[in-house]
Amino acid sequence: MAYERPCVLSIAGLDPSGGAGLLADIKTFEQLRCLGFGVASALTAQTEDHFLSVDWLPLTAIQTQCAPLLERYPVTVIKIGIMQDLSTLLELINWLQEHNPGIQIVWDPVLAASSGFKLMEPTWNAVLPVLLQKITLLTPNTREAQLLSGLDDAPEAASRLALFCNILLKGGHAETEKGTDQLYTGTTKTAIKPGRQDLPAKHGSGCILSSAIAAQLALGLPLEEACRNAKQYIETALTSNEHLLAYHYVS
Ligand code: PLP
Repeated sequence: MAYERPCVLSIAGLDPSGGAGLLADIKTFEQLRCLGFGVASALTAQTEDHFLSVDWLPLTAIQTQCAPLLERYPVTVIKIGIMQDLSTLLELINWLQEHNPGIQIVWDPVLAASSGFKLMEPTWNAVLPVLLQKITLLTPNTREAQLLSGLDDAPEAASRLALFCNILLKGGHAETEKGTDQLYTGTTKTAIKPGRQDLPAKHGSGCILSSAIAAQLALGLPLEEACRNAKQYIETALTSNEHLLAYHYVS
């Protein structure tokens, strides 16, 4: 008999503190009533505020973990977190889509940990448009959009990336309308406003938001509604305690 909940896969780094990466994604999937699977792209050593090291797993090791899951379960949405470089990511996406041509992919392009530790240093290059055309949604913050597009102005950067896929430009670091995310779908831009101003920071907040969107998409919601519901989820997590590791629950 099939499971009643939709199956969602996270391919992300293992952060043993559980604040970011795979463990945070699985907590989110579970709270949002999905059946969550997790494949490690890297093993990190860190706490909520101190990043010590990252050991990248080779593409073959990521594929070896994914294959039995994709064969056994009807995964419809995949969230991808930290990856070693763009060409590995493109190869992985091509392979995932050969397995499952209809799969929706949400990529959270984590380029550095909030403590400053650099994870990937991409620039605008030939691989990027090809890669972006294969995904459903990219969820950059301002800095990530600037680095990926090669443009300094954040709205221009997001518009350039939106030529290739849907973009959720996160407003946490925005200079104006702080906290408001902007969803770019083609030439349309939609503001997703925060429920509250001045929300405290948490380790892994981008991971939680992107995995909540992936869960909402797997539940069958349209993209804009998925982003709005996911924002509510992350806001509940951000205000769940006074520390950097969120408690997860549905408000
Ligand atoms: N994903 C993983 C596996 C990480 O280890 C990290 C951060 O260290 C992140 C994502 C990004 O989380 P944050 O921006 O809170 O550092």
